[in-house]
Amino acid sequence: MSPSKDFDPNDGDDEDTGRLFIVANRLPISIKQRKDGTFDFTTSSGGLASSLAGLSQKVKFLWFGWPGVDVHRNDKDELRKRMQNEYGAVPVFLSKQLAEAHYNGFANSTLWPLLHRLPEKASSKSEWSDAYKEVNETFADVLLPHLEDGDTVWIHDYHLLLLPTALRERLRNKKVRLGFFLHTPFPSEDYYSILPFREAICNGLFNCDVIGFHVPEYVASFLDSAEKALPDVERSPHDLHYQGRKIIVHHFPIGIDPTQFHRALQQKDSEEEFQHLLNTFKGKKLLVSVDRLDYIKGIPQKLTAFDHFLTEHPEYAGKVALVQLAIPSREGVPEYNQLRDEVERLVGRVNGRHSTTSYTPVVYLYQSLAFPKLCALYAAADGCVVSSVRDGLNLVSYEFIACQKRKADDKEGVGPGLLLLSHYTGARTMLGSSLIFNPWDTPRFAETIKTALEMPREERQKRYEEAAEVVESRTSLQWGLDFLETMKTLKISPDEEPAGVQQDAEAMK
Ligand code: UDP
Repeated sequence: MSPSKDFDPNDGDDEDTGRLFIVANRLPISIKQRKDGTFDFTTSSGGLASSLAGLSQKVKFLWFGWPGVDVHRNDKDELRKRMQNEYGAVPVFLSKQLAEAHYNGFANSTLWPLLHRLPEKASSKSEWSDAYKEVNETFADVLLPHLEDGDTVWIHDYHLLLLPTALRERLRNKKVRLGFFLHTPFPSEDYYSILPFREAICNGLFNCDVIGFHVPEYVASFLDSAEKALPDVERSPHDLHYQGRKIIVHHFPIGIDPTQFHRALQQKDSEEEFQHLLNTFKGKKLLVSVDRLDYIKGIPQKLTAFDHFLTEHPEYAGKVALVQLAIPSREGVPEYNQLRDEVERLVGRVNGRHSTTSYTPVVYLYQSLAFPKLCALYAAADGCVVSSVRDGLNLVSYEFIACQKRKADDKEGVGPGLLLLSHYTGARTMLGSSLIFNPWDTPRFAETIKTALEMPREERQKRYEEAAEVVESRTSLQWGLDFLETMKTLKISPDEEPAGVQQDAEAMK
């Protein structure tokens, strides 16, 4: 990260957008309490923090979020001061139970599966939805005293869908711009209609001035749902008019910072790992998959297709290996533990069927990898298989392309590897030169693996170059700047009643 530790509350950073406040569920800082009672801070660089790292070099902002721990009330003031002064971060403290019911409960067990069109994975409890509302209200309470006329607040993701309403109710006369970016897909209307308090969610978003999604499909689904949920919405191609206000709804596909990956690959430890991988898989084609162990990632579908491929094409036995990195995720949610059992059973089945004493087709790693090693794995691979059954965008596909630069630039070598990309990822819209497949169609998925392994260099190079152009130009920095630029074009929100407060109250009962 970092947000701006020299953020001056009196300093309107930009005369068009005022000061900028970024709000996301989790602060990119972890706090640990030592035995002597003092606190240690470490910054984490994954997820949104990485995506905003470039932006933080260009634009000052203050970051609001949950610090990930429950601290004693006597320590809160000191922590607040230190986090703001040293990291430009404002903690939103939550009790352990409340944070658990909000995050693992409503956000990850109810909203996440429904937003990904997987209602069979969803569960709900009334205390989770109560906690969700309470956490959104608490964020609004913490933000409010910081906000002045002319400020811009950019809210991120599905953990905080009710925050725009909670803020507008409190802001009343203050003229503050609100923006929201949803990092997940937005489901089609039939799935959206299953969501608990769906009218309140739409109303929450309508209290924003700009609403962003990754790709046009999610924008269209949102506009369809908005029209159905609230009849007095007027729709034009990229905006909505609701209760006299214009709301811009647009796609802003996020990206990565490709230079970070190019730089890592030049480091000694990355180079050593790269050479080690080439040696280990000498004489074999290497396929890699890098996924959080999440049911949206289609890992069972991929293992089933790989099994089918080896069964149908026994000539490939001993000649191709799949390294599946499964990053531990949401271990507090039962569906994730069941998925782990299923994946490990399938890995055992494929390896049991197709291994020899000198060949293991699936190398399964249930762990995180250090960044230089991850880059080396992407760089050494002949193919990257992204088999999500639904995925907001999928950054792994971008990272793989960034790391194939070395093989693409080496005109004497084997040439760049191929991206095999599920039709159900947002990235498919951006990286159309990949081999696109349906993860549910096992025989054709298996044939796509064969096509990838047999594709001539010239065609791989052409496909790589098309993808690399996107990855190198549609960066995370560009994403952030585009979103903020769109916020700037809007007149500041008029002083008015929050959208649909009455309906919200009804819908949330
Ligand atoms: N990643 C990670 N730990 C690892 C390997 C990868 O955090 O051990 C990162 C990876 O580099 C990528 C992110 O996890 O940036 C996954 O992002 P993606 O958009 O593909 O999926 P998400 O996890 O957000 O659903």
